[in-house]
Amino acid sequence: MLSLYEKLGISRQTYDFGAEILKGLKSRFETIDEVAEYNQLKVLQAMQKNQVSEACLLGTTGYGYNDLGRDTLEAVYADVFHTEDALVRPQITCGTHALALALMSNLRPGDELLSPVGKPYDTLEEVIGIRPSRGSLAEYGITYRQVDLLPDGAFDYEEIRKAINDRTKLVTIQRSKGYQTRPTLSVGRIGELIAFVKQIKPDVICMVDNCYGEFVETIEPSDVGADMVVGSLIKNPGGGLAPIGGYIAGKKECVENAAYRLTSPGLGKEVGASLGILPDFYQGLFLAPTVTASALKGAIFAANIYEKLGFAVVPNGTESRHDIIQAVTFGTAEGVEAFCRGIQAAAPVDSHVTPEPWDMPGYDAKVIMAAGAFVSGSSIELSADGPIKPPYAVYFQGGLTWPHAKFGILKSLQSLIDGKIVEIG
Ligand SMILES: *Cc1c(COP(=O)(O)O)cnc(C)c1O
Repeated sequence: MLSLYEKLGISRQTYDFGAEILKGLKSRFETIDEVAEYNQLKVLQAMQKNQVSEACLLGTTGYGYNDLGRDTLEAVYADVFHTEDALVRPQITCGTHALALALMSNLRPGDELLSPVGKPYDTLEEVIGIRPSRGSLAEYGITYRQVDLLPDGAFDYEEIRKAINDRTKLVTIQRSKGYQTRPTLSVGRIGELIAFVKQIKPDVICMVDNCYGEFVETIEPSDVGADMVVGSLIKNPGGGLAPIGGYIAGKKECVENAAYRLTSPGLGKEVGASLGILPDFYQGLFLAPTVTASALKGAIFAANIYEKLGFAVVPNGTESRHDIIQAVTFGTAEGVEAFCRGIQAAAPVDSHVTPEPWDMPGYDAKVIMAAGAFVSGSSIELSADGPIKPPYAVYFQGGLTWPHAKFGILKSLQSLIDGKIVEIG
């Protein structure tokens, strides 16, 4: 084993450093495996109950009327999330599209959208119109209100109560911290927030941006009152196999609204050929619980390694986890770049490529990204990115298998050691 690690560029000292850290993580990894076991059975049960058959793996073309595989997959998703219905389509191009679709189809001119958990994910700013943009909700006369979390991360119940009014139609709750420093919300906390909102206004639609959160716990936000949960298939629920796609699971009316917007009024869920994509959607969902577990183990391993070396990590090494993202603050551009070079060098695809910081559209500083993925841009695969600006933090996530996540983190550490940015032992 060691000689193979050495051939792949990991020194004995680096390997031993990792092995020492791992000794302390046994019981946490056991808990993660138990959650994966539970979720594996949940997915399997949904597949068996809906009688997924060989015929479901075939695709349709053209209009896609009576697409058995597509309709059955949507029933499976609805059962996994314990919702009335679901829309799971390759025509939903990404997570942002799924969220935009859920919002635009369930809000009407004059309605108000409320985020009681602070600023939403960057790309949603243009969807909502926080940053003026063509086609935003704001252009259609849908207003937006936001209540920030309190400095300690708690919900500002008093301000939320004041913000809810006659026009409040939909409340959006982002589960993952995304690329912010606030804590990720547990499903339990999301449930408390939804209960509070519904007690003030029972008919308000509560939507949860579930990106990066699926299968991290045994329950999902739809188990604690969310009317809609929304996410991307090139993150957790696609299991690394889905090459595109998004989902919306929830109340029948909400999902129908989304379907009429995705295709056309009158057509809704009835059209939308699945082409040849369904085997990857089914198999990806089947693998998603264990793939998510691998990514979680990688995040915890990274947190403990870099915490031990004295860097600020969010979440810290011992906190309970509610998504798969790990932030590490290096404090220098060199640290961020060395980390990302290590992750890239660990990839199964494009490992020979050296990532460089570049001016990405929509960002105010250069960003460096490491991703050698089978699916372009997939962040359930081992990946990292960091803006080259203070505090010089990287965001790390994914890993289709635990051995690969482990190797990637050791490779990042080796890169920092070789660059004389950190010292061990
Ligand atoms: C990734 C992500 C999105 C957007 O998904 P894309 O597929 O990148 O468009 C939205 N919200 C959160 C919390 C995310 O992590």
